[in-house]
Amino acid sequence: MSALTDAFGRRHTTLRLGLTERCNLRCVYCMPAEGVPLTPTRQMLTTDEVARLGRVLAEAGVDKVRLTGGEPLVRKDAVEVVARLGRLGLRSLAVTTNGLLLEDRLAGLRAAGLTDLTVSLDTLRPDRFETITRRPGLDRVLSALDAALGHGYRIDGPRSLKVNVVSLRGVNEDEAVDFADWAAREPIEVRFIEVMPFDGNGWDRSELVTFEETRSRIEDVHGPLDALDDGPHATARTFTRPDWRGRVGFVASMTAPFCAGCNRLRVTADGSLKVCLFGPREVSLRDAMRDGATDADVLGLVRRALAGKARAHAGMDVLATTENRPMITIGG
Ligand code: SAM
Ligand code: SF4
Repeated sequence: MSALTDAFGRRHTTLRLGLTERCNLRCVYCMPAEGVPLTPTRQMLTTDEVARLGRVLAEAGVDKVRLTGGEPLVRKDAVEVVARLGRLGLRSLAVTTNGLLLEDRLAGLRAAGLTDLTVSLDTLRPDRFETITRRPGLDRVLSALDAALGHGYRIDGPRSLKVNVVSLRGVNEDEAVDFADWAAREPIEVRFIEVMPFDGNGWDRSELVTFEETRSRIEDVHGPLDALDDGPHATARTFTRPDWRGRVGFVASMTAPFCAGCNRLRVTADGSLKVCLFGPREVSLRDAMRDGATDADVLGLVRRALAGKARAHAGMDVLATTENRPMITIGG
């Protein structure tokens, strides 16, 4: 089967698959304060549909799948989905989770073939955790992260462990060094993400803490960071120090977009294909499958959408005024 290549020669080998729009947190930068109208369950992809899409795309060269949402672990079949995708022989099968429901599921996820784990955690302070997520739960997330290390999710082994930190001006930017201290002590990768505009999150340029700023804060205390080799498709630029066990990464989607090396496809929990996180254009693979599309038909839709993929996103100020879905219904 020929590769999923777009008009700019970018070969698409990574799939981000939303499992749900539901979430047990309400992060200020992701979930609009008024919530989001939830799509009825019958419009969500079923376990079989998720497994089928995974297989069809894997046959066309996708070798890395990341499950996201909403909070993927609120879906009761999350471990089963991992097990079904785990049989495809992917190079990487990952989950991005807020960690609240993780600890009890870890053994099952690992046995099902989960190779990479990303836990989102923006602060190490309980009061701030509640301000950012509008819910309590920091202890549970920290305990799940400890358990993940115990299950062998760590950057120096066959499985990996990352912590996503969205940097927010006036909220958590002063914790950059605390997170870097953690990466120095433990074999984890802490990724600082520039906050991005999505519908309903009230994005404002003044909230943006740039990757250069976070890096300077860390270097002021730890000394110069050594750049690692991230490869052409990386979303994060990663760095470490000779005396560190872990590393830090910076996802500079706003100040240094990585569109040129983009190899990512996204499918939302309701089965819509998005070829760009910031592109409002979508095509429903769910409807096609429910209307009897063959595997070749489904791939044809993916190829047609890819043919229209833009070279790069429009830049942060244009994005801030472009209609798109809220992040929680896209899947980060
Ligand atoms: N609920 C899971 C979690 O929080 O890890 C998975 C879904 S969440 C949408 C995926 C990632 O997107 C998280 O790391 C989150 O911090 C990030 N994210 C959400 N909204 C964002 C925004 N406006 N800008 C940058 N990152 C964002
Ligand atoms: Fe939920 Fe993740 Fe969005 Fe936070 S970032 S509201 S945990 S989906």
